[in-house]
Amino acid sequence: MKSALEELISAVPLGQRQQRSFETPFGQLVFTIIRGAEPGPTVWLQAAEHGDELDGIYALHQLVATLSPAKVHGTIVALPIANPSAFAVGHNRSPRDNVNLNRVFTKAAHPDSYSYRYGRYLAELIARVASCFIDLHGGGEYLDVASFVTIPETATPATQQLVTEFLDVEAVLTGNKQSSAMLIDELTASGVAAILLESGGASQVTDRAIQIHIDNVLQSLRYWGVLATALTQQQTHPRIIHRIQEGTFATLGLLQECRQPGDVVVRGEPVVTYSNIAQQSYQLVVSLKRAIVLSVHTQSLVRPGQYAFLLGQID
Ligand SMILES: [Zn+2]
Repeated sequence: MKSALEELISAVPLGQRQQRSFETPFGQLVFTIIRGAEPGPTVWLQAAEHGDELDGIYALHQLVATLSPAKVHGTIVALPIANPSAFAVGHNRSPRDNVNLNRVFTKAAHPDSYSYRYGRYLAELIARVASCFIDLHGGGEYLDVASFVTIPETATPATQQLVTEFLDVEAVLTGNKQSSAMLIDELTASGVAAILLESGGASQVTDRAIQIHIDNVLQSLRYWGVLATALTQQQTHPRIIHRIQEGTFATLGLLQECRQPGDVVVRGEPVVTYSNIAQQSYQLVVSLKRAIVLSVHTQSLVRPGQYAFLLGQID
């Protein structure tokens, strides 16, 4: 028997694009569905799993508007706002529980929370219809990120080849403990080819950040055979990251200095310098031997417990 979402998808005529609302126990989701004229896989594209990461929303809106259904092999299911209750308040997390939706998978993290229950529902919805999946993320309201991709350690050789040879990203983050409860982990365990792309951030969405997402999604669609246009191999390969360092702020204060996403830093160097309300200065320094700045806090106000940076060890 077909699920309600499968019914909705198959109601779109072949060779057409339609926007459809879908009622769930957790509220309404708005999809754009492209059913190609030719047979092929079903790919699920989504953004704003974190409600303040807007780059991916713009990227998906532009992408689905410009793709010609006549040239699509298979089906594209695009969900530009994957976490509507978080997006509605412009925050990373849903106000219903303040739980990170992308850390509730594969293990019973926050099992009684709204986000846990919604996450399980969403993962089942995706695994039921799609064989390929892209989760678009970015820096959100206060972080800036380098362009990088995260895949589970258990990703197939094909997925590893896609991200290391064909995507235009600065780094590939794979097999670190922090990524073990993400939606891509759960979907990979269900046999879906799943990747998470990061681009952009801070308060202003840039054309460049949107374009990086669009280009990497198009490359993935070519790799998966959804688009027949030629796949271009990248000249420079991304850095492969197996080990990370995360920094968080200890006190309320003001940012004084920070490094930029993509910068290479060495042990002992400060990544961010900030001061508390008594103007005492603090530094958060690199503990890895040599690392690339994958994300960094760039907004002037810093709050205790807030994320300051993510570094990836590069040798
Ligand atoms: Zn995110």
